[in-house]
Amino acid sequence: MNTIENSQVAIVTGASRGIGAAVARRLAKDGFAVAINYASSSKEADALVAELASKGAKTIAVKADVSKADEVRAMFEVVEQQLGKVDVLVNNAGVLKTVPLADTSDALYDQTFDINVRGTFNTLREAAARMNEGGRIVNFSSTTLALNMPGYAIYNATKAAVEAFTHVFAKELRGRNITVNAVAPGPIATSLFLDGKTEEQIQTFAKMPPLQRLGQPEDIASVVSFLVSPDAGWVNGQILRANGGIA
Ligand code: NAP
Repeated sequence: MNTIENSQVAIVTGASRGIGAAVARRLAKDGFAVAINYASSSKEADALVAELASKGAKTIAVKADVSKADEVRAMFEVVEQQLGKVDVLVNNAGVLKTVPLADTSDALYDQTFDINVRGTFNTLREAAARMNEGGRIVNFSSTTLALNMPGYAIYNATKAAVEAFTHVFAKELRGRNITVNAVAPGPIATSLFLDGKTEEQIQTFAKMPPLQRLGQPEDIASVVSFLVSPDAGWVNGQILRANGGIA
């Protein structure tokens, strides 16, 4: 494990809540200095910084809407000044609203693509110029892309774009010794998944994997921990589905 003095630096986008918060906790435990990015949940982000600092981790909270290129640039600058050059980028921030394609408003289409696709593009572009050699990038796709369920057309289209970025960007970083992979979770018990679903719908999803439960944020945090570790050094340009065996 790294010591705080020489720890590598990780940015986790959308780390105020849900999977991102679990990833931030896990990477701090693994010895990284962690920048906890958020868009609006400042109380949650500050509470997480306090929690991790009390355990001896070096962490900061950084407000930035990932869909805004200038805010992403400013985020990298703050992180470099306060923690150092970035070694790990986890592109976790994302939104989901399930609506049939025919009923999707222009505003919902724009918001979903702006955060899930442009947000990932903005951080990848910034990372290309700024990340340390030997770094690790983990993007977030979704197992819903493999399930083709009604209501997921727009969301799945954004995650297909993220998977395309992952495959191509891994090759564009040739010579930098930086890996680019994506994790594609199945249903995970966070507000993104739970909000707006009946108990019956939640139970239907929980029964889908042969492991017969919903995933927990920590299930995904451990996958990210592996992908950014030295042990995953030969894994590059891959999409890792972590879903209890749904697909
Ligand atoms: P969540 O509980 O709703 O948390 C979303 C996080 O993203 C929050 O911290 C939120 O911060 C942040 N965020 C939203 N818009 C942002 C923006 N414009 N800029 C910066 N941060 C922003 O969601 P989750 O379930 O943890 O999902 C995390 C990732 O996993 C997403 O990419 C999602 O698509 C993917 N995923 C989730 C599941 C699942 O079942 N939960 C399954 C497959 C894939 P604020 O509150 O500050 O806005």
